[in-house]
Amino acid sequence: MSHQADPQPTPSRNTSTPRRVLIVGGVAGGASCAARLRRLDESVEIVVFERGPYVSFANCGLPYYVGNVIVDERSLLVASPEMFRARFNVEVQIETEVTGIDRSARTVTARDVRTGVSRAERYNVLVLSPGAAPIRPPLPGVDLPGVFAVRTIPDSRRIRSWIAERRARTAVVVGGGFIGLEMVENLLHRDLAVAVLEKLPQVMPPLDPEMAAPLMQYLATKGVRLQLGDGLARIEERDGGGLVVVAESGARLPADLVILAVGVRPETTLAKDAGLQLGPRGGIVVDAQMRTSDPNIWAVGDVVEVQDVLTGQDTVLPLAGPANRQGRVAAESIAGRATHFRGVQATAVVGVLGLTVASTGASEKGLRRAGVTSFQKVYLHPGHHARYYPGARPIHLKLLFSVPDGRILGAQAVGLEGVEKRIDVIATAIQFNGTVHDLAEAELCYAPQFGAAKDPVNLAGMLAENVLKGDMPVADWLELGRTDALLLDVREPDEFAGGHVAHAINLPLSQMRSRYVELPKDRDIWIYCRVGQRAYYATRFLAQHGYRSRNLSGGYMTYEALKAGGLAP
Ligand code: FAD
Repeated sequence: MSHQADPQPTPSRNTSTPRRVLIVGGVAGGASCAARLRRLDESVEIVVFERGPYVSFANCGLPYYVGNVIVDERSLLVASPEMFRARFNVEVQIETEVTGIDRSARTVTARDVRTGVSRAERYNVLVLSPGAAPIRPPLPGVDLPGVFAVRTIPDSRRIRSWIAERRARTAVVVGGGFIGLEMVENLLHRDLAVAVLEKLPQVMPPLDPEMAAPLMQYLATKGVRLQLGDGLARIEERDGGGLVVVAESGARLPADLVILAVGVRPETTLAKDAGLQLGPRGGIVVDAQMRTSDPNIWAVGDVVEVQDVLTGQDTVLPLAGPANRQGRVAAESIAGRATHFRGVQATAVVGVLGLTVASTGASEKGLRRAGVTSFQKVYLHPGHHARYYPGARPIHLKLLFSVPDGRILGAQAVGLEGVEKRIDVIATAIQFNGTVHDLAEAELCYAPQFGAAKDPVNLAGMLAENVLKGDMPVADWLELGRTDALLLDVREPDEFAGGHVAHAINLPLSQMRSRYVELPKDRDIWIYCRVGQRAYYATRFLAQHGYRSRNLSGGYMTYEALKAGGLAP
């Protein structure tokens, strides 16, 4: 996103003929823009061109239609051209592809995909919301029958038919991002055996590896084969029918169908051919009002580059929430209002077979990539509601914050219950430039079945405050192989016997007050327990007795996740 200080004037209005606003793409961003613009301005003519057969459909629901969770295809249709006409006086031309833009003549070429006939359409204002296309790596076999991407209703219909007609039993999902994982869940719903081939050593690439670890373990317990750290080499036809996905390692994964979910690419062909400015991440460059380098053309949604409010860097974020909000901002701007899009913070959630994974803001690896070093992190594993009330489920939570001001930089959480609620609270705090002190102080709902008097969000803030105040000096698990600190496990002996960090000694918290003199005062002591609480008590106790104690945040539970994520010895 470029950052022009002042909004440019909206194109001059011709009072004799209505201003003509053409919108390319009639789903999340385009449909939002059209509807909002009409609510603001009854005088403009609005025409939406949509290449596909449907306008404003629920692309986020497509995996669930494949999985038969959404049974009736019509449920995916949020609106129809008739509804747009009747309710908003917006003309929607479906199965009409815009194939070119003549910026000097202010016309687009619109082609009827059924007849192939093209015509020129005049505009005063053009809005581009063509979305992003699934990446099809140029590898042998990716175009074979039985290899699918999921973007449109017809795509999901084809997958459903393929499963039914071929009596498919096995599937390989290439790519372990959120669309890939939603497909895993839904293919399991259809009783297929599913394998995931993922180039990175983890699924859900936006997460830090240790936060993806519980998800990977969970998938394994559900029978999903994970072929990680291994890219796609080719897809072959199998003798006697079916396919084989061949990985770069040579591993061969048999499949009756293959889903390609290796990411999306902004659909910038139109913009590029028209000479609009594109950014380094491959999206259209827009200002805060969603206006492109041409003052008569706006762009929104998956096709644009936006600013990450936390790192300040330009990014692409193909998510429905930003696309909808940008459509609204563009409409306001076209209507002459100086509304600004504030940028993105990458708040996202995915549910996989009952497990919820959510994140907001920066990840640790993202911060490191952006060269940010002045940050700290805490891990915690609280119950999603009071422990004493039956059914409490742990939430694995990681909070990143800047030092020394405590500004919240990001959070990631995994668990069976209450995960997205906590991330939404933290996301809102980030939006208001909140600090860990705000989280510690947040007044949140509490009754035993919903939360705790110290909600996980409060606890995260309090832990972070302890770090900032020096009450709980933390040691970084990532430094484990590079330290000569004494590793102290303060769990009970039976817990220690059940598994511990190599070279750790055991002195349970319950015996600390009588035995602490056994510990050396001339050495750093890094302390852990199961989740971090007992280690915190021990850290405080020892610090007040002159020891150089530090807490290994998140305890053995975090250590095991780090180990599973390949980050700890
Ligand atoms: P789209 O909604 O993709 O709309 C673009 C439209 O433009 C398309 O219908 C296309 O046919 C049309 N088009 C393209 N080029 C032309 C042209 N030249 N002429 C005419 N029409 C054209 N996001 C979330 O936040 N949460 C989710 O759970 C989630 N799940 C998803 C699941 C799936 C399977 C998919 C595919 C996406 C999911 N997303 C999700 C992402 C979300 O759907 C997108 O970020 C959002 O739809 C982007 O809006 P958009 O308007 O930029 O593009």
